[in-house]
Amino acid sequence: MTSHEKASTKVGVAVLSGLILAGLIYFFRTWVPPFLKWIWGVIGTGWVWAVSNHAVPGWVLLPLSLAAAWCSVRIVVMMRKPSVPPPEPEPHWRDFTEFEWEGILWRWQYDREGRLYGLASFCPQLGCDMQTYPRTGGYYGPGNETTLFTCDRCGHSPEVRGNKDQIEDRVVREIERLLRGDGWRTNLRAANSAIA
Ligand SMILES: [Zn+2]
Repeated sequence: MTSHEKASTKVGVAVLSGLILAGLIYFFRTWVPPFLKWIWGVIGTGWVWAVSNHAVPGWVLLPLSLAAAWCSVRIVVMMRKPSVPPPEPEPHWRDFTEFEWEGILWRWQYDREGRLYGLASFCPQLGCDMQTYPRTGGYYGPGNETTLFTCDRCGHSPEVRGNKDQIEDRVVREIERLLRGDGWRTNLRAANSAIA
């Protein structure tokens, strides 16, 4: 950029600044005072109207008062209304730790890797909840034995086909089958609604 160009740019900036300044002065001197005056006028008129007495018939005041009272009550009710409860937490498969199967209530736990352990049998009778121990049941021919899960408390005695290991193996496979699909959710809901 030459010094000549610099000078002309400076002149241009000065002229533009001058024009903007003139415009601002014109605006503030010509438009702002009347506008402020008008605003003050509106406020003053409103104030005078608000504090002076008005000849309003009672039949107008009555519904207005009722409406005001109703609005106040609504506002108070809305403010006192408890906030919306947080949504139910999504069930987790780790919460699925019991279900009833073959007439026995089974309970278990998961280790850190999600593997099942501690499978135990309980009495499924409503309100009993006694832990039961498998006993050899009836023998109906080779490979056709049964196991009894007799409850020492209420005497409920479901008889299940197979020996203890076979039954527990079936239970574990059934739990794993439910965990692979969506079945555990259904069982979890059923268990929760039974408690509730
Ligand atoms: Zn029982």
